[in-house]
Amino acid sequence: MRVTSINGFDACEASFGVPSQTRRSDQVSGPVLLLGVAAGYLALAQFVVWLNDPVSVGASFWPAAGLSLALLVLVHPSRWGWVLAGVALAEFGGDLAHGYPLDATLWWTASNCIEPLVGAALLRVWANPGGSLVPVRQFRRFFGAAVVAGPLVGASIGSIGTTLMPGNAGIWEVWPKYFVGDALGVLVVAPLLLCWKEQRIERHLAETVALGVALLAMPVVAFHTWGDVWDSALPYLILPLLMWTALRHGCRGAALGVFATTQIANWFTSAGDGLFASTGAANGHTIILLQIFLVITAVSTFVLAALVEDLVDRTEVETRLQQLASTDDLTGLPNRTSLAVGISERIASPSSQGVGLCVCDLDYFKVINDGLGHPAGDEVLVEVARRIRSCVLARDLVARLGGDEFVIVTDGSSASVEALAPRVIAAVAVPMTLSDGTKLTPSITIGIAHSNHGKDPSTLLRDADAALFRAKELGRGRFHRFDDQLRLQVVDRLFIQTELRDALANDDLYCVYQPEIIIATGELFSFEALSRWAHPTQGQISPDRFIPVMEDIGAAGELFTHVLTETLTAQAQWAKLLGFHPAVAVNLSARQLADDDLPGAVAIALTRAGCPAQSLWIEVTESALAAKATTSNVLLALHDLGVRLAIDDFGTGWSSMARLAGFPWDLLKIDQSFVQALGGPNQYADHVVSSTIALAHALGIPTTAEGVETTGQLDRLAQLGCDNAQGYLFARPSTAREAITHITADAQWTGPGTPTLATWRRMQTSASKRPRLTARP
Ligand code: C2E
Ligand code: CA
Ligand code: CA
Repeated sequence: MRVTSINGFDACEASFGVPSQTRRSDQVSGPVLLLGVAAGYLALAQFVVWLNDPVSVGASFWPAAGLSLALLVLVHPSRWGWVLAGVALAEFGGDLAHGYPLDATLWWTASNCIEPLVGAALLRVWANPGGSLVPVRQFRRFFGAAVVAGPLVGASIGSIGTTLMPGNAGIWEVWPKYFVGDALGVLVVAPLLLCWKEQRIERHLAETVALGVALLAMPVVAFHTWGDVWDSALPYLILPLLMWTALRHGCRGAALGVFATTQIANWFTSAGDGLFASTGAANGHTIILLQIFLVITAVSTFVLAALVEDLVDRTEVETRLQQLASTDDLTGLPNRTSLAVGISERIASPSSQGVGLCVCDLDYFKVINDGLGHPAGDEVLVEVARRIRSCVLARDLVARLGGDEFVIVTDGSSASVEALAPRVIAAVAVPMTLSDGTKLTPSITIGIAHSNHGKDPSTLLRDADAALFRAKELGRGRFHRFDDQLRLQVVDRLFIQTELRDALANDDLYCVYQPEIIIATGELFSFEALSRWAHPTQGQISPDRFIPVMEDIGAAGELFTHVLTETLTAQAQWAKLLGFHPAVAVNLSARQLADDDLPGAVAIALTRAGCPAQSLWIEVTESALAAKATTSNVLLALHDLGVRLAIDDFGTGWSSMARLAGFPWDLLKIDQSFVQALGGPNQYADHVVSSTIALAHALGIPTTAEGVETTGQLDRLAQLGCDNAQGYLFARPSTAREAITHITADAQWTGPGTPTLATWRRMQTSASKRPRLTARP
């Protein structure tokens, strides 16, 4: 993972020169900045003169170079002029005040202005600098631009000035010292200013104090002359101390340590004390030896510090990412990922009486989202999250599973979990007012699963989901607990789900056909195609078992195409035998009402089979329609094709009168539950059937009664004015070949049930005034 690639989390990258960021230094007026820079510069220059004895050994480093560089990095480039003017003023004025010659002074002034300019400009190009040297990458760039490139240029200009001094040392002798002196000045001072704000490593006060004391004491020991081998060994003791500082205190600690060490080393060496003074004096290389030692020490320390800070950064980013990955942005609740961990932890906890899981689903959230907009939806989610949280104990876990689903994970017996659900339902169902003033009362449905014998999290979640599903079937705003009956259903669903694909591929799914008979004439009205599944080991599986699963897994379309093709093929074959196309009806699933490709597919299937659209019926259950908010465009398109539309299982759904009247239905099928209840107590079913028929006829729609099993039922239906009948009285659903054995070429039904029809027809005195449809299109 690249830390720096994650925008905004890498503190270092972010603090590097974002132009819009106003720094305090950018608020200071230009002249004040100039004077401040000049004063600081002079102070540092004076400090070097005081610290070192320039007469005996000369300055081993030039800290003012670090100050100018750091200032240029810290201020906006539009203010570089003021900083450089301050530098020039101090250098020029200071040199003249010291009585140095004007020509040398001019070279030095130029050197001290151009050097930081080169360093800062390069840093801006390479590192977009702005205040930190922390990541390793940035230290490398800092080193290249500010410690090497700038001083290379600066030394080349400045050493010319030095050669002009009385005493006239040669350029080859001056240049290296000048270069390393400036480089060391930048290395020692700039990080101190640039890293000062970086304070991200945890440390203990006692350790810091001990380290501070050691850092001040050790150089005193290390750079003192003790005699014999000690002098050459002791300076190395500085290194472990600085490493320790870098490890525990990062860049800021390293900068402080390096600064202190350098000063003390300079102090002692210029006083003629310690290893460098003694060995250097012997061969005239005192300064350069000290400089090399200090550069190596400083670079090693900073590299280590940068590495440490980089690691800290990565850890921070990882922690933040982990946090982001485990919480839900909107509600601040743990998300699905942490939920799995939370459930596992609770299941594993030995003291637990069991783990309860409540999957809570907000009712009609889609309506809120679509109707009031997503911000309102978000507001509701946040509030519901808060309400759920308020119902549980602090140690319980409430997570957002996504969308409008929340999960509560709690310890305790199954009874205590069950007691929690109504509390949550009640807490959520309190009216709320959104920020735009809209008032609404949310409601929630809950599925509960409990485990006290180490179920795995996904099973527990699946069980609770199944319970939720059941609760919703029973009506929203309630809870349901996962039980054995549900367990069987779940197992069955899983079985069906896995076997279905094979069934479709192996043609284990096929159609049977059941006739609908016109009561008044005894003619065939149509055949309804019904799906059958012959499972290789389980035998027949009923459509009530596999069709809901198919709808759920999105295979309803596949089934429909399968049934339609098979049915139209059967119809075309029947047409050859009968001389006309008997009408056929195919059932449509609720989900397909939204499938815009369906009408096109039906048109193609009709053309391929050579069947007229008018002889195809599509049956849609009333409940499928009730679930749909608007009139289905799919149905309208099918109607435009000429396909006939039947409303199925009428009386079991909740379709409104408007829905029935506002749509071009061609047939209404009365659900078999009413037919079976005919003649029952209070004549309830008789009243329902009679008024349904009256309603349909008022709208000009004929009716078919389903599930007619007895002659009594048929007689009663006929009396009530029902047009067609379908049921075991006439025929059970059978194969395409068997289905037409009782149909004559003039569409007469000659199979079982006909005597009853004939009797009934004789009983009728007046011909029906009811709308009639024949089987022939
Ligand atoms: P449905 O559309 O109401 O179909 C009528 C159901 O009643 C059929 O059950 C049929 O066998 C049964 N039935 C017919 N006459 C009688 C009778 O006299 N007494 C009794 N007790 N039952 C009778 P089946 O075939 O088990 O189908 C059940 C349901 O499955 C169907 O109800 C329909 O909603 C659905 N279904 C069947 N095939 C398909 C299909 O290909 N696609 C879709 N989407 N649904 C289908
Ligand atoms: Ca049907
Ligand atoms: Ca039906």
